[in-house]
Amino acid sequence: AYSRVLDMHKKHFSPVQTAYFSEPLLLHQGHMEWLFDYQGNRYLDFFSGIVTVSVGHCHPKVNAVAQKQMGCLWHTSALFFHPQIHAYAEKLSALLPEPLKIIFLVNSGSEANDLAMMMARAHSNNMDVISFRGGYHGSSPYTLSLSNVGSYRMTLSSGTGCQSTMCPDVFRGPWGGSHCRDSPVQTVRKCNCAPDCCQAKDQYIEQFKDTLNTSVAKSIAGFFVEPIQGVNGAVQYPKGFLKEAFELVRERGGMCIVDEVQTGFGRLGSHFWGFQTHGVLPDIVTMAKGIANGFPMAAVVTTPEIAKSLGKRLWHFNTFGGSPMACAIGSAVLEVIKEEHLQENSHEVGTYMLLKFAKLRDEFEIIGDVRGKGLLIGIEMVKDKISCQPLPSEEVSQIHEDCKDMGLLIGRGGIFSQTFRIAPSMCISKTDADFAVEVFRSVLIRHME
Ligand code: PMP
Repeated sequence: AYSRVLDMHKKHFSPVQTAYFSEPLLLHQGHMEWLFDYQGNRYLDFFSGIVTVSVGHCHPKVNAVAQKQMGCLWHTSALFFHPQIHAYAEKLSALLPEPLKIIFLVNSGSEANDLAMMMARAHSNNMDVISFRGGYHGSSPYTLSLSNVGSYRMTLSSGTGCQSTMCPDVFRGPWGGSHCRDSPVQTVRKCNCAPDCCQAKDQYIEQFKDTLNTSVAKSIAGFFVEPIQGVNGAVQYPKGFLKEAFELVRERGGMCIVDEVQTGFGRLGSHFWGFQTHGVLPDIVTMAKGIANGFPMAAVVTTPEIAKSLGKRLWHFNTFGGSPMACAIGSAVLEVIKEEHLQENSHEVGTYMLLKFAKLRDEFEIIGDVRGKGLLIGIEMVKDKISCQPLPSEEVSQIHEDCKDMGLLIGRGGIFSQTFRIAPSMCISKTDADFAVEVFRSVLIRHME
């Protein structure tokens, strides 16, 4: 029966639409942090549908709200008002500081970042945009050109460097990537000290200035940044770096756009938004993934002034964005995060788990780095701690599969797909964290034999 499923998949889908594992999982049910396949096997889901199922699979409250709304009204389009949209806007805007109060509801992270780019260009009257090597902002032509991690860059780039053929106005500085071939800044830590101490903020700033001075026109439209690089495997910036970078961008008339698609909604634990962990105030914030626990929904939040500039240039229209269904679910997600103290849980369980994984770094030569914050964790696999070369892909794949066979689902990322990504639903317990660390440890012991 399983081979029939594989044949069916091959018949209707292209090989570029990749799935994890040599025998892709055929899942049929989810409950909170657990997933079940058709054979009745249970998996602890530590990647939550690519960092998306924020409060747990089929969360009872979210399900109840969705079912109720489904019986009333699904879709109206943005041409009509609906109380669910206003209730949601009230809740979301209460979580953002002044003057970030104008909300645009869309359907995906890519769409949100596309819109943010248009806003930045409309408000600044400039075209050039900056993003980070190692960053990921989406799969549309605009956002793919902003992205620069692994094959996402290679697929549509001209092959001559980091400039994508899709959108020639994006510039990237040589920083931020883990093990990036062109980067003088390696993110693998070679000692056991605190995350920030080995990373050179001043060096980052100098490189940032170089990029601004040499590659970009004097005035820029915007700067896109993730508070922690998600697809790149929880890569962090040196403390204080973003604050200075924001100042440099603003000196040149650019908007600072923070992509909270992975980092928002309490996942980082200490704060609700990733930008708060850097002590900065963005001009535009984009969000998606965890916003509606897996229901398609995304948002861009900006200032009244920037929204007005966009309005002068175009009439923003969107068929599906902000449907009563999406808004009802989005509201339920915000309520659950608050009622069940999920941000606090992310902080507590995330910190606990990060420490446990960091201990494994001392135990295994092939763990080059353990990093992250709250429930966004990266474990970078290397050949050895001296060379810090990425562990060959077949070995990373084997470890990944072995974890799955032992009931643990984790993600992969990084420039060479060498980093395991841990980003479960925020409802997990310390017992779940213990299970995950133990599975990972026993898989590595077997691997080293
Ligand atoms: N920004 C970030 C930080 C992301 O991680 C992603 C998705 N991985 C996106 C944007 C794009 O979101 P979507 O896939 O919903 O278009």
